[in-house]
Amino acid sequence: MHFQTRAVHAAAKPDEATSSVAPAIHLSTTFERSPDSTPLHGYSYIREGNPTQSALESALAEIESGARALAFASGIGAAASVLQTLAPGSHVLLPDDSYYAMRIIARDFMPQWQITHDLVPMNDLDAVRRAMRRETKLLWAESPSNPLMKICDLAALAELAHEHGARLAVDGTFATPALQRPLELGADLVMHSTTKYLGGHSDVAGGAVIFASEGELHERVEHVRSILGATASPFNSWLVLRGIRTLAVRMRVHSENAMRVAEFLSAHPRVEATHYPGLASHPGHEIAKKQMSMFGGMVSFRVREGRAAAIEVVSKTKLFVSATSLGGTESLIEHRASSEGPASTTPENLLRLSVGLEHPDDLIEDLRQALSG
Ligand SMILES: *Cc1c(COP(=O)(O)O)cnc(C)c1O
Repeated sequence: MHFQTRAVHAAAKPDEATSSVAPAIHLSTTFERSPDSTPLHGYSYIREGNPTQSALESALAEIESGARALAFASGIGAAASVLQTLAPGSHVLLPDDSYYAMRIIARDFMPQWQITHDLVPMNDLDAVRRAMRRETKLLWAESPSNPLMKICDLAALAELAHEHGARLAVDGTFATPALQRPLELGADLVMHSTTKYLGGHSDVAGGAVIFASEGELHERVEHVRSILGATASPFNSWLVLRGIRTLAVRMRVHSENAMRVAEFLSAHPRVEATHYPGLASHPGHEIAKKQMSMFGGMVSFRVREGRAAAIEVVSKTKLFVSATSLGGTESLIEHRASSEGPASTTPENLLRLSVGLEHPDDLIEDLRQALSG
């Protein structure tokens, strides 16, 4: 079945109790049990699991071609829960260009958990191979990466990880399962910030981990979630589930619009570089074509004259809102180094765009006037 159909129908049976077509939101924190405390329908207490979260998880597993899924209160809560399953003494490889809070987890928390790490360019397979150690348990990849839009070869990384007895985890937030399904390429788990495209309307925070197989890893991450507490709320689960229904059509328009915007930017005299994997000039274009069906809605570019000029461009846009985050219907623009703060490794002249669902001509016109002298 085509992805577009799967996204509309995943875990979407009418409600058994009422025949409602839209799913119910179960807000109950507790569930009746038999006198010896046996759950009557599998649920006991909200932090351990709730029916709306379960509905979202079934849909996530289906659309990501996974065996099981877990929903979380945030994307970083999902990522941290995976890392917290690792035994002390484990070594992890993280991308040199990753969501900035991953590097902060590595700096501020992984030492306390006695987990060591190296930052490596995940698009350079020889560098990844050289960085592997006997204790390396996990490779963490992000493709396309934030904010430089680097592409790594997920099938090759999965093979490399497995040769060394390690696992491959992929942060698939930018691509979403509409455009890229890492489990089909051999990854062991996929993580998403559902705050972004899966929610899709800039009005819900959430995260997800989807597993290639059932078993020990899924159980350990679920244990971390239910005891350390990054469970998704019922209402947030419901909003993300609703977002999934339109994911395929939204990602098509995000991708078409971003392609137009990237082509415009790459021909502009004030733009030093445009980072978009859909451009034939992007170093990861051939791999992106192999593992993605379209190239997504995120574009970053560098303003030739430097930091101050880049910030001035942000001040002049009228449609693009100056804000962080991504994946909503409205277009956003951000001076990424400023919002990442002192730990940032992002070039000072880089602007990141989340290209929304407006008409592409209007978006290009807005950028044209913002870039005009
Ligand atoms: C936003 C984001 C995260 C973190 O997700 P939250 O929902 O903000 O916790 C992780 N990875 C990527 C690529 C992101 O864009």
